[in-house]
Amino acid sequence: MINLVLFGPPGAGKGTQSEKIIETFGLKHISTGDLFRKHLGEGTELGKKAQSFMDNGKLVPDEVVIGMVEDFLNANTGAKGFIFDGFPRTVAQAEALDQLLSDHNTEIACMVMLDVPQDELKRRLLERGKTSGRADDQNEEKINVRIQEYLNKTLPVAAFYEGQGKASKINGVGTIDSIFEEISSAINAHV
Ligand code: AMP
Repeated sequence: MINLVLFGPPGAGKGTQSEKIIETFGLKHISTGDLFRKHLGEGTELGKKAQSFMDNGKLVPDEVVIGMVEDFLNANTGAKGFIFDGFPRTVAQAEALDQLLSDHNTEIACMVMLDVPQDELKRRLLERGKTSGRADDQNEEKINVRIQEYLNKTLPVAAFYEGQGKASKINGVGTIDSIFEEISSAINAHV
């Protein structure tokens, strides 16, 4: 199995690059943001638990996210591997993911971090907000909260994977294809 973490702030291009990675490496995509939006749309209990956090640009509590990822892994045991997009976003989530994968006799092969300057992130998110229909992309105040959550709670996850020798930092500004080439080289160097 090849399991990858695609890491970076909101607006770094994780969703776009995930699509290309899935095509090339045949992995199963898990985006916790997409899963939460699906639950919100369906009005499930889990969606109700996540809603107020998402509406305010805050992270959903770890136990809610981890439980959802665990269910997803259990429902997809035949996968060739997973690409984790937007997860883990706290060190507690990263530790829980290591444990979950170890229960399935596998592990993270590599973490790819997309590096994009803050003003470029804001520009991209506001632009995406014009067409994505996502309320959290349309309001500069919420975008600032999301970036702040990333800096405070998510950035330490990078050090977690650096400590395991699994992290590769990639410049997330450039053409989609040139960034994908760099990501592919980083993945191939780790698998
Ligand atoms: P995203 O689509 O990845 O930008 O996620 C949208 C929102 O979903 C975030 O602002 C959080 O409120 C929530 N969310 C998604 N993934 C996570 C996660 N791993 N941990 C906590 N909250 C999350």
